[in-house]
Amino acid sequence: MAELSARMRSMVQPYLAGIEPYDPNFTPTRINLSANENTYPLPADVREAVDRALAATPLNRYPDPMSNELRDELAARHGVARENICVGNGGDELLFNFLLAFGGEGRQLLNCPPCFSEYEFFASLTRTGVRNVRRDRKTFALDERALLAAAPHASLAIITSPNNPTGDVVECSFIERLCHACPGPVMVDEAYIEFADAGTSTEGLLEDCPNLVVLHTLSKAFGAAGIRCGYVIAAPDVIEVFAAIRQIYSVNVLTQAAAAAMVRAHDAFSPVVEQIRSERERMYRALAADGRLTVWPSQGNFLLVRMEGASRIRERLRDEFSILVRDFSYAPGLDGCLRITVGTPEENDEVLAALAALLD
Ligand code: PMP
Repeated sequence: MAELSARMRSMVQPYLAGIEPYDPNFTPTRINLSANENTYPLPADVREAVDRALAATPLNRYPDPMSNELRDELAARHGVARENICVGNGGDELLFNFLLAFGGEGRQLLNCPPCFSEYEFFASLTRTGVRNVRRDRKTFALDERALLAAAPHASLAIITSPNNPTGDVVECSFIERLCHACPGPVMVDEAYIEFADAGTSTEGLLEDCPNLVVLHTLSKAFGAAGIRCGYVIAAPDVIEVFAAIRQIYSVNVLTQAAAAAMVRAHDAFSPVVEQIRSERERMYRALAADGRLTVWPSQGNFLLVRMEGASRIRERLRDEFSILVRDFSYAPGLDGCLRITVGTPEENDEVLAALAALLD
């Protein structure tokens, strides 16, 4: 990756001098299974409802800063009140704001790698210290004892469930104990929760755990990564903090209108989610049957797969088959690992056939 120019290194805040301009290294490919997007088309009636909502949205007015119509739709979906929800420009904005509000100099984020790398990035941008409690090297299970021992010293914590990129979910009973042990807020990042088994969400703990924050996004199950819409559910005083520090117009009028139409139609997404879950199991069985691969069970819309020569295989998938998957083999604890998003049956068949050809 590129570095900042020497001129810029001397101008930016000293602690930012080492940052690297973001280069997603994006290659257009026929089949893109690299970013855990939903590769299925929107259900036709939902797409029509979204188009109608967009067409009826005036563009000359600033957006409602709090997205109240959308909050009401989300509140109805989750059985909570509007005051329990804050909407953001994707989950990423809310994660950044979480670190901005509750982290900072002299404070500590409790983090469980391997997990979503943005947490550490946002911690570095907000000068938040990071206490990493690593997952088990083989199973990726959380080290619950070490987490509970570290929690009293943490200013905030983030646990991902299902975890990206390892696919496992956290036990609700553990989150309850962690919330009691941590003096600051505990976020459970449930970006992929719709793909997990029923009953795995930690939302039921919100009543008893006033420091719990549950993060959701429309980028995954709702297939709307392009509109940039995420939200947190938490106690009203926690939501007030998110509301107070956010960029007031970060969720634009088109996003608010499209998201409200999609959340209103949330039942229409169940068949797509069911199909992705069943494709995930089919892919898991096919990959696990190949003795040259290690694959972990996943509750998300992706699978983590370890193999010999992973980086080279990822390049050949891209260059010879025009299939893009994510290389994690450089990441600590994930050597030899690729993450493959579960796509449509046709896309998945192509991945299986291409892998079989490359591994031979
Ligand atoms: N959390 C996790 C675990 C993710 O994998 C992602 C996206 N890759 C996000 C949050 C953020 O998603 P978005 O900003 O698209 O809502």
